[in-house]
Amino acid sequence: MTISAELITQVVREVVREVASATPALATPVKEVCDGVFPDMNSAIEAADQAAREYLGHSMKDRAKYVAAIREAATRQENLEYMAKAAVEETGMGNVPDKIAKNRFAALLTPGTEDIVTEALSGDDGLTTIETSPFGVIGAITPTTNPSETIINNSIGMLAAGNAVVFSPHPRAKQLSLWLVRELNAALAAAGAPKNLIVTVSEPSEENTKAMMEHKLIRMLVATGGPGIVRAVMSTGKKAIGAGAGNPPVVVDQTADLKKAAKCIVDGATFDNNLPCTAEKEVIAVGSIADLLRFHMIKEGAYELRERALIDKLQALVMDGKRPKTEWIGKDASVILAGLGIEAPAGTRLIIMETEFEHLFVQSELMMPILPIVRAKDVNEAIDLAYQAEHGFRHTAIIHSLDVNALTRMGRKMQTTIFVKNGPSYAGIGIGGEGYITFTIAGPTGEGLTSARSFCRRRRCVLAGGLNVR
Ligand code: NAD
Repeated sequence: MTISAELITQVVREVVREVASATPALATPVKEVCDGVFPDMNSAIEAADQAAREYLGHSMKDRAKYVAAIREAATRQENLEYMAKAAVEETGMGNVPDKIAKNRFAALLTPGTEDIVTEALSGDDGLTTIETSPFGVIGAITPTTNPSETIINNSIGMLAAGNAVVFSPHPRAKQLSLWLVRELNAALAAAGAPKNLIVTVSEPSEENTKAMMEHKLIRMLVATGGPGIVRAVMSTGKKAIGAGAGNPPVVVDQTADLKKAAKCIVDGATFDNNLPCTAEKEVIAVGSIADLLRFHMIKEGAYELRERALIDKLQALVMDGKRPKTEWIGKDASVILAGLGIEAPAGTRLIIMETEFEHLFVQSELMMPILPIVRAKDVNEAIDLAYQAEHGFRHTAIIHSLDVNALTRMGRKMQTTIFVKNGPSYAGIGIGGEGYITFTIAGPTGEGLTSARSFCRRRRCVLAGGLNVR
């Protein structure tokens, strides 16, 4: 039997049509979406693991290029403005100008690959180097108070150290966090980085955070948040960095430059409406200068509540038992005063009041522009009260004094990760003080102000009996 060319063409056409209709994927190729946002935690972690393996083959120059791409994307003016507005809108906390500043500082002052240094030991027995290698995939949990700042800061440090990172953002900062992960993925792709070095899930939740903490491919956990999440990562059995709560006291004694101290305290306590874990949360002032300090603070934009009834009303408004009510955290001072029925004078930045040491405003981490002032009989008593108010977090403390003995005594007693003398609290994170910035201050686990080297494993590489050229 002979088969005509016409019949062959007809059969081929038929077969092609059938195959195409049975497997539509062949007919319309699926466009791969790679923006770092995954529908579930497992696929996010597996993608990051693959990225981390690929990343091992990239050079330090490559890492520096990717860090530069993150810095560039995060400091684009439209992105800075978007992140600040989106954070205030979504979380209901903080203020736009300070959030723009915080994001810019996070992008520019977070150390990159220059933070990774090799140590060398050279002697009669040869040459040994101590190299820093990545952990692999890091699980990072981020707070509502600094949602984008922490993602920018952690991404730079963790990628500079050669890791991939899976973020578990606070559900109340979901939209902004997902947007930022997508934005950073686009910037990294344009710079030629492996896909999925920075990933997250489309529905951040406590369950997803738990799944991440338990996942076998997660080699290190970094929690920035309150005591609950710090405890949780520390009990996983994995390498964990815990950056937890603080309640920073500020001591002012009779030797201080009171005008300057008042300005520093008001500036520090109002930065992003008191959201930073490092911000001044209570003042302990030596009695003889307390009135003058209050006078200068008022000139700097503090509004003083004098009547006990009003202070009680404020407590009922913003506190639920011993905890601050979420809806008042990070609100403007004028909004809080309006809640009391007080119209704040123009320029009001902070609400102050004198209280006893036991008052909840002193003892609780409010994260609002409300700053209680406690009187002490002398600087030694002030330091002792500051120590008690800090509750052993060993996070941040501040003092305004020109007495070297007082400065030394307080530094020794507090044992805080950050101790600022004669400046606003934010000088301690490199804003107007020497040193780099971080948004993950690891007191409980001891890394201090984290940077790229905190996210590395130290490895020893030994050449016995050679290359010592002395
Ligand atoms: P938070 O503890 O409520 O939340 C932090 C993160 O942990 C969020 O992503 C949240 O979803 C998650 N989380 C909390 N409990 C969890 C649980 N049981 N299981 C799973 N996930 C859980 O804190 P916040 O209100 O977002 O942030 C403010 C707190 O963080 C303050 O106490 C502040 O001092 C602290 N903080 C510390 C630092 C630091 O560097 N030390 C920096 C920023 C904020």
